[in-house]
Amino acid sequence: MADRRNVYLYYNHNPELDAKVDSLSSIAVKNGFHIVKDIHQASIIVSIGGDGTFLQAVRKAGFREDCLYAGIAVEGTVSLYCDFNLQDTDQMIQAMTEEQIEVRRYPLIDVKVDDTARFKSLNECSIRSGIIKTLVMDVYIDDLHFETFRGDGMIIATPTGSTAYNKSVSGAVVDPLLPCLQVSELASLNNNLYRTLGSSFLLGGSRKLTLKILEGGNDYPVIGMDNEALSIRHVKQIEISLADTALKTVKLKNNSFWEKVKRTFL
Ligand code: NAP
Repeated sequence: MADRRNVYLYYNHNPELDAKVDSLSSIAVKNGFHIVKDIHQASIIVSIGGDGTFLQAVRKAGFREDCLYAGIAVEGTVSLYCDFNLQDTDQMIQAMTEEQIEVRRYPLIDVKVDDTARFKSLNECSIRSGIIKTLVMDVYIDDLHFETFRGDGMIIATPTGSTAYNKSVSGAVVDPLLPCLQVSELASLNNNLYRTLGSSFLLGGSRKLTLKILEGGNDYPVIGMDNEALSIRHVKQIEISLADTALKTVKLKNNSFWEKVKRTFL
């Protein structure tokens, strides 16, 4: 087990940010933290940037469950995964050393592709047609054949991902205290031949969503896991459920999910 004060800093390098991160590192070291170069040696993984950077940091760490994740926003940005701000180093160190922080657990999605490959994701898994033709999929909730979808694709979002891609297609914003998956459609065809529910729906944490891609119905979809596309090309079946493990993030007191939603959108 890595030292509990081993910190890995993840950010996209540029000269201006490099200088700010250097000064942050010095302050952290003065306060008894160790900056490590290998992400696997870290017990605290800190992303510096926006939500996109946080997603990359978590993916690079392999969604490890034995460490804490913290997001630091850079000047002038607001962000759903960042509790800290780079210009407020005092608040950051004070929070970490005086134990003002709480740990919050964010639900993750577990995706199984064709019984062969497994992936995790923090925001969402999206399945989209990679060509002009529509994508046709049989949608199962547990063992129930629920609908046959024909359209551009679907987004299956976590509660924290509900404010991202899911929100752009009018999905609901969901409290991360509810362990659930939200399924939203991308441009479904609805007429006398094809019918889907047409609205987003929430699945409880013990449910499984299975998407069976119908032959001849475009079996080369683009599968996105947060900000990465899977390199698998020919896909027959995708099973999606909530992961058994959650992502442990640092939460400042008085900075709830809804305070962040208000700050970001209202
Ligand atoms: P990007 O396309 O460069 O930026 C997507 C935007 O979504 C950024 O402004 C990012 O914030 C923001 N974002 C990411 N996660 C969020 C969250 N949980 N709640 C609210 N906003 C969030 O891609 P990226 O920065 O690498 O982020 C990947 C995410 O983009 C995907 O997981 C997906 O949710 C989202 N996306 C959205 C659409 C859409 O809305 N039409 C389409 C494709 C992908 P920052 O600027 O702070 O990084």
